[in-house]
Amino acid sequence: MKLTCPFCKTEYAADVAPGAAVACACCGHAWRTGGKRRVPVLWLMTLACFVLALSVFAGVVFVRNNEAAAKQQEQPLAIQVSNVRTVADADGQEHFMVSGTIRNQSAAIHGVPDLVVSLRDADGNVIITQKFLPPVPLLDAGETAEFAHTVAEFSADAKKVGVEFK
Ligand SMILES: [Zn+2]
Repeated sequence: MKLTCPFCKTEYAADVAPGAAVACACCGHAWRTGGKRRVPVLWLMTLACFVLALSVFAGVVFVRNNEAAAKQQEQPLAIQVSNVRTVADADGQEHFMVSGTIRNQSAAIHGVPDLVVSLRDADGNVIITQKFLPPVPLLDAGETAEFAHTVAEFSADAKKVGVEFK
């Protein structure tokens, strides 16, 4: 890079960074090399804009992924508990019998995962959970299957019954 002292006009061939503080060896005048001094600032701003755009883009992708995950969660199978009643076994011990429907609300055939019944007390605390097998291994698009499960354990405190996929 060619440097020219602004005071005495002496020329130097020196490898000096733009914006660097230099002093003339001839007259002692000190100045900062100019010209491209603002370029690094411009580059930084461009970089900052790029990073900002990238983070906005990443945010959009993240939101879209969340939406996709939410859609995935409400799809494709749905469980509806239609009936909960107590039945007594041969020993007179009471049990909850939970029945309901599994519906494939998607447009494709789906495997049905294991089911979990949970019994909760009046405060919503889980007292008993029990896994059970689905009535069918597969559900075609739009198809439904009825399930009925007798919970082996019993608690008189159980007030709410829920069934979900494991
Ligand atoms: Zn000079």
